[in-house]
Order: sequence, then C-alpha cells, then structure tokens
Amino acid sequence: MKIRLLGCGGSFGSPLAWNKTGNIDINNKRNFRTRSSVLVTIDNTNFLIDCSPDLRQQLYDAKCTNIDAVLFTHLHSDHVAGLPDIRAISLINKKIIPAYMPEIMINEITSNYNFIFNGTKDYEPFMTAKILENNFKINNIKIETFKHNHGSIDVQTYRIGNFAYSTDLKKFYNNDLDKLKNLDIWIVGLLRPDQHEHPSHATFDEIMEYIDYIKPKKTVFTHMTALLDEKETLKKCPPNIMPGYDGLELIL
Ligand SMILES: [Zn+2]
Ligand SMILES: [Zn+2]
Repeated sequence: MKIRLLGCGGSFGSPLAWNKTGNIDINNKRNFRTRSSVLVTIDNTNFLIDCSPDLRQQLYDAKCTNIDAVLFTHLHSDHVAGLPDIRAISLINKKIIPAYMPEIMINEITSNYNFIFNGTKDYEPFMTAKILENNFKINNIKIETFKHNHGSIDVQTYRIGNFAYSTDLKKFYNNDLDKLKNLDIWIVGLLRPDQHEHPSHATFDEIMEYIDYIKPKKTVFTHMTALLDEKETLKKCPPNIMPGYDGLELIL
C-alpha cells in the first residue's frame, strides 16, 4: 500500500494569503500546504479520500490519471469542492467514477453538483453516488469506516488495513477509538499548535492523548493552518510523530 498526502492544509490552505503567513517560515517549502486529501494505492487500485479544491494540481503532481473510487469524509467545501476536477479522470479512463459518502451527504452533494451526478442536456454524468456502509469492499480490498465528531457535524474515519485517516476531528464517540488500535500509520487532523479551544477541532494535547492511547507505529498530522510551522511542530514531537507535507509518500 502506498499513501500519498496530496494536501495537508486546513480549509484556507497555508499560508492564508499573500503576506498572511501566520507562524510559518516561508523559506520552508513544506509549510506551503494545499487543502487536505489523500491518495491510497493498493496493487492497481487508487482510492482518493476527499476532493480538495486543489485536486487538479495535486493529481498532476502525483502523476495520477486514474481513480477507482472516491471516499468522502464530510461535506465541508474544503473536502468536496474539487469534485468537478474528476471529470478529466472520467474522460481519460472512459468510466463513471463511484463516490462513497455517508447517507446524510447524498442530497446536498448530488443537488449542489447535479451536473456531475445526473448530467445536463449537453454533458453526461461522470460520477455516481454510493451510500457508505461500515464495512465494505472495493476490488476485494476491505474498507472500514465510522463516524467521529467534528463539532456540529460528523466526519468519517476510514481504515484500510493498518492505515487510518481521521481528518477534521474534535472527538471520538464511545469506544470507537479502540477501532484504531494496531495501526502502522495514522493520519490525523491537527488544526493549530496550541491549546486554543476550537468548537470543531481537537487541541494538540487532545490529539497527543489519542496517539498515546492507540499507539500507532507512525502518526502524521494533516489539515494544518499557517499557525503550525513544520520544524517547530517537529521539535515538539517524538520520532514516530510528524507533521505531514504535500507530496509525502508512505509505504506500508
Ligand atoms: Zn476541513
Ligand atoms: Zn470540516
């Protein structure tokens, strides 16, 4: 399995705008972050988790021209607004691409992006919406998913083998954290470096407590704002925990 972090920025990306660089060192390329999404490749199957608004450039940089399925975490626009870019992938491969999502997303996504899922009189549809089940298979590859809390809405954590992805995380429900035991790699959303309470994202210490409990072999942070400098964050982390960067590839 190869996991490529296509983008690891928060909803604004990093930096926020020209000259609005927060705490980052702009001489470090790893602090330039596009919006969050991930490409997971197993044998010849490519799963795309979320469609970042920066998707076209991300897939170009990854030299990726085929997606077998899109897995959505939630309907916030920084995770879905790249959907129209899937048209090129559909065209190249002459196929309709399935998008898996929780039932609660289906109406909003298929009406906001009606032309993608239903077509218009001049354009054929190029994606199809599929309702997520907690356990399912694509090309015989097992995928497990469950909801975690992200403030007023829920987000899907995905687990594929010993890799899991939990972005936009405030907290887990009940004993769900136990489903993330024995991970080799956990990519987890970390918005800011401090203890600033946020209604929909966990603090640094809270994320470290989760890591301490499930003990993944390696943890990589994603969904980072320009308040998180890569080198400063690394200094605060033990060797098996690191902030991600766009284009980071991990092999499992
Ligand atoms: Zn987000
Ligand atoms: Zn979100």
